[in-house]
Amino acid sequence: MEISSELFCVVSPYLSKSRPALDVTKGTDNVASAHLAQILCSFTDMSALISLRKRAQGEKPLAGAKIVGCTHITAQTAVLIETLCALGAQCRWSACNIYSTQNEVAAALAEAGVAVFAWKGESEDDFWWCIDRCVNMDGWQANMILDDGGDLTHWVYKKYPNVFKKIRGIVEESVTGVHRLYQLSKAGKLCVPAMNVNDSVTKQKFDNLYCCRESILDGLKRTTDVMFGGKQVVVCGYGEVGKGCCAALKALGAIVYITEIDPICALQACMDGFRVVKLNEVIRQVDVVITCTGNKNVVTREHLDRMKNSCIVCNMGHSNTEIDVTSLRTPELTWERVRSQVDHVIWPDGKRVVLLAEGRLLNLSCSTVPTFVLSITATTQALALIELYNAPEGRYKQDVYLLPKKMDEYVASLHLPSFDAHLTELTDDQAKYLGLNKNGPFKPNYYRY
Ligand code: NAD
Repeated sequence: MEISSELFCVVSPYLSKSRPALDVTKGTDNVASAHLAQILCSFTDMSALISLRKRAQGEKPLAGAKIVGCTHITAQTAVLIETLCALGAQCRWSACNIYSTQNEVAAALAEAGVAVFAWKGESEDDFWWCIDRCVNMDGWQANMILDDGGDLTHWVYKKYPNVFKKIRGIVEESVTGVHRLYQLSKAGKLCVPAMNVNDSVTKQKFDNLYCCRESILDGLKRTTDVMFGGKQVVVCGYGEVGKGCCAALKALGAIVYITEIDPICALQACMDGFRVVKLNEVIRQVDVVITCTGNKNVVTREHLDRMKNSCIVCNMGHSNTEIDVTSLRTPELTWERVRSQVDHVIWPDGKRVVLLAEGRLLNLSCSTVPTFVLSITATTQALALIELYNAPEGRYKQDVYLLPKKMDEYVASLHLPSFDAHLTELTDDQAKYLGLNKNGPFKPNYYRY
């Protein structure tokens, strides 16, 4: 998508001219009323949203927006919802996952006047009922959708085509939801502009590289109590997730091997000081196997048969496809649940393999995602909603768009004050020399960070 020069005028009042001020101690009245220590805790690492809220509050860029949302309902989401309300929106919310709702947060939101239909442990029927309650309401018609996974969008599209037609914009954050939107668009059935925030650069870096660099250790430590210094670890895949995992393990003193199919990533691994091997070459000696490829059957039953006693196996990549866990459900192997999310699979000779989270994503199953990462996502979502809601007719067609680079840069800039980071400003002469606007965007769309 080519971005026209006037694209940013809608959000431009909120785009950084000077550096955003960090002040989480003020302007928290809305949330404080929810009396939730947990929500207040989120504030400390979600200062960018609070900063956005303060900058835009006077102008209410979401006045008249009726946002129906379907995301994880956590303390961080509460901060996002409060922000959207402070910017003028009305919100109704359901959960995108039947297990992930923090009940106390849902209750606090309801107490603060936000219509929330969600609780931890919903049945499949409850799940759809909650979504329906958000959409099907006399006298209240949503005009914006904020979705995570595409279920809400799909429900409105299928059940309420007239509501769908009147939606001004959809903001989608997940790989799956974005995929569904592109499919709809390809089939000519997407009658609403949509923004794919999943692929915005800042969000991706935080989700994949920086989040995994922290949560791999969190997940491994919470489940195994193992000391990783001196341990031999093989990480399959040296993409963004793999790079994060390797950096963390190397810093603990682990001996890290990499497997890769791509010579560029393999060469990067060599330059970063890792040995690039085939899995078969090290499978008998390693203490830990971690998959991060996005692929399937990377660790097969044959690999599992050859692992040494007490080898830990886990997945940080794609849902549950990377390790062939199904192949371990055979009569000669015994499964022993030693603690939540930790199974010992025992071979007839007594060998045990320690399988974490049954091969599902280790960090999502066994650790928590840092609030700072969620702050990046939430700020990206809020800006995408403001842009789509305010865009003049014709700026966005019935298609799927990436978050404009300038806004991506703005999301990052809002987070810089947390680190007391001081950006250098281009001189007029330098800007001319590089052919850039002094206020960005600073990189072309094809730039790889
Ligand atoms: P990426 O494409 O940057 O990296 C994947 C790497 O795996 C690539 O370099 C690829 O060449 C390599 N690869 C593919 N098949 C392989 C194989 N058979 N053996 C060895 N290497 C192989 O992707 P990414 O951003 O690192 O994401 C990887 C996966 O992690 C994706 O499925 C993504 O959805 C998921 N992910 C997980 C989390 C999390 O929190 N755990 C966060 C973000 C993304």
